[in-house]
Amino acid sequence: MQGPGSDEDRRSLCERCGRMRPIVSGRGSRFLLCQLSQSDPRFPKYPHQPVLRCSGFVGPGERSESG
Ligand code: SF4
Repeated sequence: MQGPGSDEDRRSLCERCGRMRPIVSGRGSRFLLCQLSQSDPRFPKYPHQPVLRCSGFVGPGERSESG
């Protein structure tokens, strides 16, 4: 019933996650890239939204990247 960019999407954990990086395509579509996917194959690069539960979630500014 609701299209992309709806309230449903804004409720996604990824929107508040320190590991998410927003990607905007040439056509203006917005994708949420999960940077955890680069080091942990359990996480998809572009998780299906909205993500309501995620074991990899960290608060903004909390991400710890070592190497
Ligand atoms: S770690 Fe989880 S909440 Fe964070 S961006 Fe990836 S999928 Fe989203």
